[in-house]
Amino acid sequence: MMISMIEENLSAVRRNIEEACRSVGRDPADVTLVAVSKTKPIEDLREAYRLGVRTFGENKVQEIQDKLPLMPADASFHMIGHLQRNKVKYIVDRVALIHSVDSLRLAETIEEEAAKKDVICRILLEVNVAEEETKFGLKAEETCPLAEAISHFSHVKVCGLMTVAPEVSDPEENRKIFSKLKKLSVDIREKNIDNINMNILSMGMTGDYITAIQEGATIVRVGSGIFGARDYALS
Ligand SMILES: *Cc1c(COP(=O)(O)O)cnc(C)c1O
Repeated sequence: MMISMIEENLSAVRRNIEEACRSVGRDPADVTLVAVSKTKPIEDLREAYRLGVRTFGENKVQEIQDKLPLMPADASFHMIGHLQRNKVKYIVDRVALIHSVDSLRLAETIEEEAAKKDVICRILLEVNVAEEETKFGLKAEETCPLAEAISHFSHVKVCGLMTVAPEVSDPEENRKIFSKLKKLSVDIREKNIDNINMNILSMGMTGDYITAIQEGATIVRVGSGIFGARDYALS
């Protein structure tokens, strides 16, 4: 049988993850690959599923609503994009993790909607480590206070931190960003806040996931490196 582009790409990504782990003495089992399938047709997700992928990343609520019912029940979806408060209700009980919480107001809405549905919603706090003006996310110094505020919520569980690093041609340029997010998560963990854990560090995309793993990523979000370039003209 012919090997698909997705199969070839996925093998390379998995090899790179293993090598990155080996290079710093980490266990590859501690790194979860989230296949970022935004804009891609359901056939591509099914192909990745066939090859063992179980976790998909999307950045639009509508796409999650459309794709989730078309996938096998053990496929899970992560919301990785900016989330509007009026759309929380559509996904709060359907996604396994929301990566992009960056305000108390958004966390409050998640708490309300999760309470209505009687679920506990797992979230990450998104940190704009590089303080890029065009990006969402908390400033580093805002992160711990927000974690403390959310720790009192009974339907929201903070599970770690996420960052979207700048687009760079050389991934080495982002190493400092990743190590800063890691350090921030260690600092917050050391405060032993009730109901908060810092087990997840979601950082690294197609261009820089190897570097991110070397700096401690436990989730990497790889899109074009698996599914090929996105064509926004079609979507
Ligand atoms: C699109 C996207 C990715 C994946 O980007 P690639 O460069 O295609 O790997 C990862 N994280 C977020 C938040 C994204 O929006």
